[in-house]
Amino acid sequence: MLAIYPGSFDPITLGHLDVIERGCRLFEKVVVAVLRNPNKAPLFTVAERMEQIRRATTHLTNVEVDSFDGLTVTYAKMRQAKVLLRGLRVLSDFEMELQMAHTNKTLSDDVETIFLATSNEHSFLSSSLVKEIAKFGGPIDHLVPPSVLPDIYRCYAKTPPEPVLTTDSTQLLELHKTVSPREKV
Ligand code: ADP
Repeated sequence: MLAIYPGSFDPITLGHLDVIERGCRLFEKVVVAVLRNPNKAPLFTVAERMEQIRRATTHLTNVEVDSFDGLTVTYAKMRQAKVLLRGLRVLSDFEMELQMAHTNKTLSDDVETIFLATSNEHSFLSSSLVKEIAKFGGPIDHLVPPSVLPDIYRCYAKTPPEPVLTTDSTQLLELHKTVSPREKV
């Protein structure tokens, strides 16, 4: 049976990879489908994200990487897939994912959504979190596949993080001491 794993994957994280690997053990083939979403301003282009997923999944023989736009169920029907694979992390995912699954069911009764609960160590992990840490120069090598790291570092090297303005009280005190009495008035 063929399963579609749709998402933004901007970029793919170890959490996504975990869902893909486990999906590959359950289904004959998993199609990781990158959504072309005009409402989001992604860090990576669809082509870049597809390439990142390909590089991260070379060890899996039953994965295909594709992209789509429009409704996920329309894409699933076009691929003759009966299963949509999604990951669940925290409770806040649940409401949105359930709403999406119900909506998709009303659009196409023969496409089922199957949820894989995240592995414990990835329950906090999201693409946004990775981007936030990388933006400020923090380590992300424990969060994304190694083959994707250079892309992210390259991206942020072009726009280094802005200096953090400190309001440290000792610095302010020193500054106050150096200002002449007239300037203080
Ligand atoms: P979307 O914009 O469709 O939510 P994402 O790339 O953020 O795209 O997520 C795609 C799917 O992967 C979603 O079902 C999401 O819940 C799941 N997912 C994302 N991160 C993780 C993780 N750390 N563990 C398990 N599932 C995850």
